[in-house]
Amino acid sequence: MNPHSMSTPTFDDLWSAATAWAEQHSAHIAAQGRSLTPAELTLASQVGVTAPERIRILVVPEIPFPDDPVLRAFAGQAGMLPERTGGMTLGHGIYLREDQVARASIWPHEFRHVAQYECFGSIKAFMFFYLKELLHFRYGPGPLETDARAAEAQLLAR
Ligand SMILES: [Zn+2]
Repeated sequence: MNPHSMSTPTFDDLWSAATAWAEQHSAHIAAQGRSLTPAELTLASQVGVTAPERIRILVVPEIPFPDDPVLRAFAGQAGMLPERTGGMTLGHGIYLREDQVARASIWPHEFRHVAQYECFGSIKAFMFFYLKELLHFRYGPGPLETDARAAEAQLLAR
């Protein structure tokens, strides 16, 4: 593709597109997903979720990614690739790829992202910081992903 054929999106363009996509998918998970088992509720509480009863899990063959070419390109540049994504948390909604459900460490990781959304207070507010993190660090080493990985370590240390 000609790199000059699209004008460079502003941060606010990315932010509003990512927020709209995340809100839409969070609502889809809320409608289609299952609530947590007692053991999952306990684990979510242990990693800091204040309303674990609001969490819904939707197991899918592949984690959906935005169709919007601007968002797809941004995710790719940040190192977020559909084939390497085993879970995605959108507010109190969690997509889990079916081949990841048995991987114990993915649960505290995604639950910790729920706690982060609760801390920020909205999908829009979370997305502001998450996109800044991706822009600055790319996917992985930034503070929100580091915090989610720390929740995995906390579980494995028990
Ligand atoms: Zn994560």
